[in-house]
Amino acid sequence: MLCSLIANRYFFCLRSTILKANPNICCSLQVLAFITEPTSISPPLTCSASFRKKLSGLQVPVSELEGKIVGLYFSLSAYSPCVDFSPKLLEVYEKLKANGESFEVVVIPLDDDEESFKQDFKNMPWFSLPIGDKNVGKLARYFELSTLPTLVIIGADGKTVSKNVAEAIEEHGVLAYPFTPKKFEELIEIEKAKEKAQTLESILISGDRNFVIGKGGTEIPVSDLVGKNILLYFSAHWCPPCRAFLPKLVEAYHKIKAKDDAFEVIFISSDRDQGAFDEFFSGMPWLALPFGDSRKASLSRRFKVQGIPMLIAIGPTGQTVTKEARDLVMQHGANAYPFTEERLKEIEAESEEMAKGWPQKLKSAQHEEHELALARRKDYTCDGCDEPEEEGWSFYCEACNFDLHPKCALEEDKGAKSDAKQEQDPPQEGWVCDGYVCKKA
Ligand SMILES: [Zn+2]
Ligand SMILES: [Zn+2]
Repeated sequence: MLCSLIANRYFFCLRSTILKANPNICCSLQVLAFITEPTSISPPLTCSASFRKKLSGLQVPVSELEGKIVGLYFSLSAYSPCVDFSPKLLEVYEKLKANGESFEVVVIPLDDDEESFKQDFKNMPWFSLPIGDKNVGKLARYFELSTLPTLVIIGADGKTVSKNVAEAIEEHGVLAYPFTPKKFEELIEIEKAKEKAQTLESILISGDRNFVIGKGGTEIPVSDLVGKNILLYFSAHWCPPCRAFLPKLVEAYHKIKAKDDAFEVIFISSDRDQGAFDEFFSGMPWLALPFGDSRKASLSRRFKVQGIPMLIAIGPTGQTVTKEARDLVMQHGANAYPFTEERLKEIEAESEEMAKGWPQKLKSAQHEEHELALARRKDYTCDGCDEPEEEGWSFYCEACNFDLHPKCALEEDKGAKSDAKQEQDPPQEGWVCDGYVCKKA
């Protein structure tokens, strides 16, 4: 139905030559036909005077956009990911304009509230559909809008080039222009080359920020850490999963350090303030980036940190070993060190070896109804100690979906079942906690 709707509008609004050129493509000029009805779109109400002058008035005919690369920016002005994205898009837009590129942005506002929209977009030099315009919903359906912000790119020929380049813009800025699949392939290659060239200095030194801190704020030059195995620990005190993970990491840290001094952890804080940082850091035996350090943002971007706690392992050459070190520490503790593929294979082999001594079946006092059978299990929670496991051996009752870690089944239950009560910190604004990880909302 939508397609026929588009087709109808299309026939009314667009030249038939375009249809002949792209008979099978639901192209964006068809979509712009939505915008052309009723034959014009309005620029932001408070766009700059010169812009108004150039566009001769508030209503701008869509023909202004023909032959240009156009970004359709689906936005909800009060929604924080959009609030964060708008300035980045503006920066890209201004750079492209300064370079003389034919690029325009049309905001497709999902807002109900005209005031907040005006507030947020009053300084933006972009076009916009009016708030509440019926074409907003049609465009959202047409582009199968599933996330915000979304920036659809329409090529100069009117075809849809990319369905959403918001992430690419966040990551690569103006380098992502003209937002074509070919461009993205190039960026992936550049990214790979960058990863190959990565060193500890390249990720941890920025301008004159060339140190981390130890206890009491002592500055430790990054150069002192070169050649070591490093864990970058993204975390915050207000995050319950971070607090729950900390003791495990501390325990693993001491065990690893006892065997290999060429190892360090660097805490990278998402804490609210210096006080919270100081308190949380005081419970850590390792190093940190100073609170509020500007390098945190670039590290978060580089490692695509979307939730905490997150633990990134950097090898002695400065290459990223794994971004899943948290899971490895949860599963294997200090045994996972140095978190490499090779080490994981060894652990696997050790685990096979270990299981040789275990019974294939057993009866447990913790599950008297049925016998438990030794099995390889994925994504289970031990019903003995309530710890989640990604993968490993379990004594398992299929009928009841009951799992016990081998250690929980084979060792006596020592009753050490629950950790100390978790403090009730207020949730951090802009973050959502699912109990395992705190993610940016
Ligand atoms: Zn267990
Ligand atoms: Zn059972």
